[in-house]
Amino acid sequence: MLGKKYAYCPNCRTRIKNPKRKKLTSYNYQILIIASIATLGVGLVAFILYRLIFQKKKYCPECQSIVEFYKSPEEFPKKVAVKNLLERLEIERVKEKSKDEIKKEEDKVLLEDTYIICSFCGEKIEAGLDVCPFCGKEQKPS
Ligand SMILES: [Zn+2]
Ligand SMILES: [Zn+2]
Repeated sequence: MLGKKYAYCPNCRTRIKNPKRKKLTSYNYQILIIASIATLGVGLVAFILYRLIFQKKKYCPECQSIVEFYKSPEEFPKKVAVKNLLERLEIERVKEKSKDEIKKEEDKVLLEDTYIICSFCGEKIEAGLDVCPFCGKEQKPS
């Protein structure tokens, strides 16, 4: 990562200002202790190497993904994540739907005038209907 100081999390798709070093878990320490005892100190050398390997990698503090380094923020991948794309489509779909609903509302308002009240059952029915869908009685032409 020589000269590449801009960290980018491919998972969060944002710039990470302070990538974290991976923390050693107690399991890691256990291995280290066992290795140190078993190898009479050689394990310590192993630990240093081990730590260096971990220190090399930087992690996103949000999602623990390994971050990528770039020379400048302009080099960050521009590709739209599939997830984001789906979200965008979903938003478009909702927008489209609400447009439809508004249209339906408008239609309803337009239809409002063409309703009549059935003289038999008192239900509101469309003016053009010959037979009331509620009571089945034939409507007198108005
Ligand atoms: Zn992340
Ligand atoms: Zn009726």
